[in-house]
Amino acid sequence: MLKLKKPAAAVLAAALMLSFCSCSEEQGKEQQQSGDTYHFHWKDYTLFETLGDSAKVELKDDFAAAVNYEWASKQKEDFTYSISSFGEANKTVVHNKRAMLEDKSFQNKNIELVRAMDGLYNDTKYKDSLGVEPLKTYLGYIDGIKTLDDVTAYMTDNSKNPFAVALVNIGYFENEALDCEVALDIKLPYLTLENKEYYISISNEGLKKKDTREKQIRYLLERCGYSEKEIEKVISGSFRFESKLASLDYSYISDLKTVKTRAEVLEMAGKYPFKEMLDHYKITTCDNFMGEFAFLDKLENIYKQNNVEDMKAYFKSALALKSILILDTDAFNFYQDSNLDRTNKFAQRIDREQDFYFFYLLGQTSLTAAVDQAYIDYYYDEATHKEIKDFIRQIKEKYLILIDSNKHLSDASKKAVREKLNKLGENVMLPSNKADFTDVKLKTKEEGGSFLDAMGEIKRKEYEHVGEMVQTHLGRSFWDIYNPDLSTTTVGASYFRMQNTIYIKMGILVDPMYNNSAPIEKKLGSFVAVLGHEISHAFDVNNISMDADGKKTDIVTKEEMSFVQDMKERIQSQFAGYEPFEGCGGYSSACDVAGEVIADAEGVKAALMIGKDIEGFDYDLFFRSYAAFWRTIETKARQKDDVANDEHPLDYLRINYTMLQFDEFIETYGIKPGDGMYMDPSQRILIW
Ligand SMILES: [Zn+2]
Repeated sequence: MLKLKKPAAAVLAAALMLSFCSCSEEQGKEQQQSGDTYHFHWKDYTLFETLGDSAKVELKDDFAAAVNYEWASKQKEDFTYSISSFGEANKTVVHNKRAMLEDKSFQNKNIELVRAMDGLYNDTKYKDSLGVEPLKTYLGYIDGIKTLDDVTAYMTDNSKNPFAVALVNIGYFENEALDCEVALDIKLPYLTLENKEYYISISNEGLKKKDTREKQIRYLLERCGYSEKEIEKVISGSFRFESKLASLDYSYISDLKTVKTRAEVLEMAGKYPFKEMLDHYKITTCDNFMGEFAFLDKLENIYKQNNVEDMKAYFKSALALKSILILDTDAFNFYQDSNLDRTNKFAQRIDREQDFYFFYLLGQTSLTAAVDQAYIDYYYDEATHKEIKDFIRQIKEKYLILIDSNKHLSDASKKAVREKLNKLGENVMLPSNKADFTDVKLKTKEEGGSFLDAMGEIKRKEYEHVGEMVQTHLGRSFWDIYNPDLSTTTVGASYFRMQNTIYIKMGILVDPMYNNSAPIEKKLGSFVAVLGHEISHAFDVNNISMDADGKKTDIVTKEEMSFVQDMKERIQSQFAGYEPFEGCGGYSSACDVAGEVIADAEGVKAALMIGKDIEGFDYDLFFRSYAAFWRTIETKARQKDDVANDEHPLDYLRINYTMLQFDEFIETYGIKPGDGMYMDPSQRILIW
């Protein structure tokens, strides 16, 4: 899936586990132009560390900085939400969720469950009065385990194992062998250090993580009354057992083409109680399994009585780490402080709004469906839905024109690409199914419940839902409301290649990203350009070989696609060596941003084509809206990470580099050779 922006999980991880790089305070290094290759040389105005330092620049030299200068100079040190349009929209969504919770005239099963969780999480006094008692109760269940049969019983008892920790996990995923319908996905178990490599040969980063996690486990177990000796036993036993798990066959790379039957999978599992897990979650008729077969096959080798004590240690560690954010204030503070990297002098603790954490935590569970269903019932607006659908229709029309006029493709290839566009699935705002929690009962704070108690019920629901998904034929573009990755209240849009479907979430349709009553130029310059970006991913360099049904069939020949490859290389050479600020590290010549760079330009191109049909179209407003949409302030640490790992260029580069591809832009601002926003037309990178 090609995400528009990092998901909340990454944002939260960045916020909770912040580690600043030790870059100097100096700002952007100018790059010299060399030879015939175009190189850009704008200064990075988006750095948090040097906020407000940059002087005002001219539109014709640095469009992004000029348009966003005033906004940037008003920003303060406040990371409650990310400092960007995305952050502002996210804040709007979180506040919208709070408003619907508070509106007591709004009553139904979904909102009732969310309100119960609200009482358990946001009533600090109540939470603090419970302290670590809830954790103590659940640790006690693990202490009671004696035999392998007890382990099996524990793994399949949600009232004792609230996070359903087991030695293998389950989910579902599309599989090409089933025409991209879903199969039950056998997944790897939770590892306290997350990365299996850390158990084999540990790096410095791994050692830091090990140290942090052990501190957190030790802190919680101490509070629960465990002795120093018992705690050491948990920590060493857990590491020993996880090392065994990590040494089994982990493939990590999903095989999306192979499925096996229930009988085959159960035979692989052997003495490991995988059948008990499936039966427990009522997954009895599913006959399509995919995922980590080799791992499951070997699991019985370590599922032995002589490992029971170490398994218990592993369950305790997992339980402690998964609970730390949902216990009392002291535990939360310990978590935040212990995650700070003390070896880094720039490290600082960032606390977000309490509701940000609350909805983030719910968003990691099946209750994401209850929140989203309530949000839909409360905020869904037919007129917006109609308008978005109409914009999609217009964008498709323009792409059809571009495909037809392409000089590199044969008629047969054009036909295949057109068919793919015509068959594109459109998931706009509304998931395909509705949340149904009629069988879920959560103990409220009035009834003496805890967040931890509630997790057991929520986890049960999640896995039973996996069963529903894999035992029903749902069709290719099915949008599952229970899938946290597809939550309609996240601020995002995406193209899912295996489904040939775009997802436009309700979360992105709020101010400042989208406004019903905004002028058409603003809509086209911001949201619609992004819509075009997502649709263009259907025929980008990575996805064009897949046919309309999401299968790989090379609908366009390699020879025909060589012009895209040429553009990719051109982009790489133009980005290569550019370093946003000293110490950041530059884009490498093999950088992978080309796909996203092209999608940005195609999206703007399609939106401009729609604009061209409108009399008296205000191009200035269109281009400014694009720049405002991608406004951002980020820390050096985050940018350094993005330059190294993100397939999207930094936001100010997305703005500038995209804009200067267009004659309309050059003409609107009277840009001439020598200006910072000028690129010779022969160097442009549009493929359609
Ligand atoms: Zn993209």
